[in-house]
Amino acid sequence: MAVTYFSHLYAPTLKEVPAEAQIPSHQLLLRAGYVRKLASGLYSYLPLAVKVLSRIEEIVREELNQRGCQEVLLPILGPSELWEESGRFGQYGPELMKLKDRHERTFVLGPTHEEIMCNLVKGEVNSYKQLPLNLYQISDKFRDELRPRFGLMRGREFIMKDGYSFDADVQGMEESYQQMFLAYRALFETMGLKTLPVAADSGQIGGSTSVEFMALAEEGEAEVLYCDCGFAADVEAATAAVTFEYTPQHTDAYVKVSTPSATSISEVAKTLSVLEKHVVKAVALETEQEGSVVLFVPGDHEVNEIKLTARFGEWHFMSKEELIQAGLIEGFIGPVELSKAVTAYKDVSLCQRTYWICGANEVDAHLLDAKEGRDFEPLATVDVVAAQAGDLCPECHKALIAARGIEVGQVFQLGDKYSKPMEATYLDEEQKSHYFQMGCYGIGISRTLQALVAESHDEAGIIWPLPVAPFAVHIVLLDPKDPDIVTYVEELSQQISEQGYDVLIDDRSSRPGPKFKDAELLGMPVIVSIGARSFKEGVLDLQLRKDLIKEKVELNQAFFTILEKLQSLASSK
Ligand code: ATP
Ligand code: MG
Repeated sequence: MAVTYFSHLYAPTLKEVPAEAQIPSHQLLLRAGYVRKLASGLYSYLPLAVKVLSRIEEIVREELNQRGCQEVLLPILGPSELWEESGRFGQYGPELMKLKDRHERTFVLGPTHEEIMCNLVKGEVNSYKQLPLNLYQISDKFRDELRPRFGLMRGREFIMKDGYSFDADVQGMEESYQQMFLAYRALFETMGLKTLPVAADSGQIGGSTSVEFMALAEEGEAEVLYCDCGFAADVEAATAAVTFEYTPQHTDAYVKVSTPSATSISEVAKTLSVLEKHVVKAVALETEQEGSVVLFVPGDHEVNEIKLTARFGEWHFMSKEELIQAGLIEGFIGPVELSKAVTAYKDVSLCQRTYWICGANEVDAHLLDAKEGRDFEPLATVDVVAAQAGDLCPECHKALIAARGIEVGQVFQLGDKYSKPMEATYLDEEQKSHYFQMGCYGIGISRTLQALVAESHDEAGIIWPLPVAPFAVHIVLLDPKDPDIVTYVEELSQQISEQGYDVLIDDRSSRPGPKFKDAELLGMPVIVSIGARSFKEGVLDLQLRKDLIKEKVELNQAFFTILEKLQSLASSK
């Protein structure tokens, strides 16, 4: 392990919060000199960040290698033909970055590597005897994100570990998947990052079963729902189960009521003196797969865009003109005498509801207690609304709790989603040919770096968990020109580094105030400070970054005390 001098370290710290950064983790990485922005979604990693990245990567490698995975490194540029084979060239949409070579051949900058990995294995792994196989790489990925933002959280170029398992059958794939699930739990814990595994939608990558690992933090972009019983899901994956205590007033026949200019759910609820959740909301869409569609959902729930895309392909909310064309009256759409030009569905959360408060398909009118099966044909169900806090846990029926999270990793069971179109097969014992059963497993390495900061910081700066800290100990030299102090500190640092810990010595000639501020900002777990006065008294100051409580330690005891602190930090995780 090494001793580094601050005067030789490229870590330009900033006093002011940079205007480009809105969330604390991004602000701190900029202020503490870890990253710099090049252009939207493109960041340079400075030496301190490179150190953290390599620690994260080493933890990942160690955990995966120990479970029999093998590291490879594939080209980032992939020929578009492979993407045509899998069918994703067209499907992936504008996020896929494409370019042409001098021969006008199209290439893709890999956003993930299912195609290239499948191609690598295809034809070389021919027999069941070569299975299972689990390969991974750590490399830059490219996605032309619609909204690159929050620094490393959503980049257009970012570092990902992506791994792929190949098995002979579904059972094998499930075992490989389970291994990776356990590996992810373990490796995030080793880093000192708290994560919650949540049931997920499988998105662009496809397949069926999938779990995301979420670092819970206020600044996270993802919404998750969880319950004390252990259930946890991404809102994109959770099905809303809604309590519905409503007593109909008109059970013989529905009643049409006047609701002048009440076009929003809250206005309708107010006009009719009911709760928003009692009103049924209509959402009108134009969809790729089913044309004009009307979805009925509980008034207090929103449709989820990801669920809509998964169910209907490309879609958009109907414009005013499209509503008129489809025979729909904006704000007053309901299931009774609904225009025949649309297909109607109800969200699964409406299944318990017999009597509906809904639009009357007439200007300024709603219906009270329209009955499904009597007043309108029973509707087919879809799962399109985002579940929310207070909805019922699908496993134990208690109210779900909402939290925000940062998706740091995701594991998927792919089955033959890629091996089939790409004709990647092996022969079994009887020489029969089968498609590989695949799994794929991603970790956002660069996003994890920022998630660690999101989870662990205070007003003054970053608080690195020891396993990923760029340096374990940060020594603030208050009198860097005093040769006796320098000699003492160099010896002390040498001893510490021989125990396997990196040490940073702030030997800059700046004033003490800014040096202390930088030590707090940079976030090394142990901070030591020593100046001429304390040296004369035979002591130095020792602090843990997490609480900043100062303690005086005798110079001849300092090495042992620091070592003890580091060991206790290592075991407390
Ligand atoms: P998101 O939902 O946040 O866009 P995703 O589900 O599309 O992510 P995956 O395809 O599962 O991402 O990629 C694997 C991992 O790569 C993610 O869990 C995440 O940690 C990371 N990742 C994905 N997109 C980005 C990005 N634009 N910038 C940084 N990291 C990313
Ligand atoms: Mg994902």
